[in-house]
Amino acid sequence: MARSLVAANWKMNGSLAGNRALVGGVLAGVRDLSCEVVLCVPHPYLAQVGGLLEGGRIGLGGQDVSAHEAGAYTGEVSAGMLCDVGCSHVVVGHSERRKYHGESDALVLAKVRRALDAGLVPILCVGESREQRESGATDRVVLAQVESVFGGLADVAARKVVVAYEPIWAIGTGLAATPEMAQDVHGTIRRALETRLGQDAADVPLLYGGSVNADNAASLFAMKDIDGALVGGASLDAEGFVSICAANAAR
Ligand code: PEP
Repeated sequence: MARSLVAANWKMNGSLAGNRALVGGVLAGVRDLSCEVVLCVPHPYLAQVGGLLEGGRIGLGGQDVSAHEAGAYTGEVSAGMLCDVGCSHVVVGHSERRKYHGESDALVLAKVRRALDAGLVPILCVGESREQRESGATDRVVLAQVESVFGGLADVAARKVVVAYEPIWAIGTGLAATPEMAQDVHGTIRRALETRLGQDAADVPLLYGGSVNADNAASLFAMKDIDGALVGGASLDAEGFVSICAANAAR
């Protein structure tokens, strides 16, 4: 069975005081849970949150990484810098980056490579729009996104990637995919990874993201190929996020 993981994506939210309270609540709540937890926070708060997490069992993650190693790339943050401040993970190819920053599959692959070279675990986001789902293109779109990255990686590197299936229409809308809908796509992704990685595909964590909350988490995690979650809005409330982690630990 693949490792479970619940990753928080705070997006562009937070403040020094608010982060202290939120992280304190999450740390206390997940202390006795067995699932892996990572908080992906805005870059300016990485050092602060890293300090708050020190010595605990929650990992730290960035929300994006530059495709470049270093140099004259104003505003960008390198994989080396993320490692330097204690990150273990980084979100790559989130649909908001693809949409608002024009990130192509080629750029997403370059970012995944940079993350892996630096020793970070990339959380690769893939997912279809509502129009694509309604026109029956979900599998084709998602597989193209998955294959454009996995096809560009050596086997050893490919085994370290975490995949997050995030249907765009479910992100931030309160309208999560049903467990069956999500499982369908996760099964498709798993089979594609099997042709690439053989038996090792079973070990690649497949996360679902899109309006996961304390009420729907357990039914999503009951699905065979849903190993964990990437959680946006609900990760900003300690109690709700801890409930999601507890549901994952119980799976
Ligand atoms: C996300 O931003 O990755 C996400 C899944 O958001 P939400 O949980 O708010 O839908």
